[in-house]
Amino acid sequence: MSTIDQQGMLIDSKVQLKRFESIEHGNLSSVKAIVVHQTDAPTAQHTFNSYNGGGNGAHFLIGKDGTIYQTASTAKRCYHVGRLIKSKCLTLNKDNCNSVEMAKILAKSWSSQIKAIDNHERQKSYPDRYPVNSDALGIEIVGKHLNDQQYEAVNPLQNESLKWLVAELYCHFGLSGEDVYRHPQVSYKHPGEAKGASW
Ligand SMILES: [Zn+2]
Repeated sequence: MSTIDQQGMLIDSKVQLKRFESIEHGNLSSVKAIVVHQTDAPTAQHTFNSYNGGGNGAHFLIGKDGTIYQTASTAKRCYHVGRLIKSKCLTLNKDNCNSVEMAKILAKSWSSQIKAIDNHERQKSYPDRYPVNSDALGIEIVGKHLNDQQYEAVNPLQNESLKWLVAELYCHFGLSGEDVYRHPQVSYKHPGEAKGASW
C-alpha cells in the first residue's frame, strides 16, 4: 500500500510527483470526499501548462496512458469544485430538505436561486451537503469536452488507474464509494464530464 508523506504527497511507484504550488490555496484540514473531473484538454502537458499560471486545479491528474500524477498536496486546498454547489437533499431525497426554506428559494429566479441554494447548503456539513473545495480532493482525467452532452471517453487504462487511486485514498482518509462524486453532480457543469469514469 502507498503512504502519504509529511508534505501530503502519495508515495508509491504508481504515482509521479509533479506538484504545482501555484494551484494550492491554503490548507485542506480534512478530506471527506473526492470529486472526479475531466480536463477539457487533449494532453496532460496542456494541463501542466495551465497549472503554471495558478488558479484552478486538482490534486491528481490521470494521463491518456493511465499515468497518475500528483499535482498538489493532499494537505492543501485546490479550486476544483466551482463557486456554486447544488443541493444534495433536493437531488437525492427531498424529505431531508428544509421544505419551508427550500420553497422560498425555489420561488426565486434561476440566477438568484442557484446562489441561494449554494448559501443554504454551505450552512450544512458534509455529508448532508455535497463536497466543497475545503473538504474534497480533486482527480482530473485527461479528456476533451466534445459537445453539450459529451466528453471524450475515459479509456480503460485511465479507469484502471482511477480505481487504484480511489482505493488508496479510501484507506488513507477513511472514505467509501459514497464519498466519490462526478463533478456535474456537485456543481453546474456540462453533464458529460467524467461520465465514463468508473471506480
Ligand atoms: Zn470539473
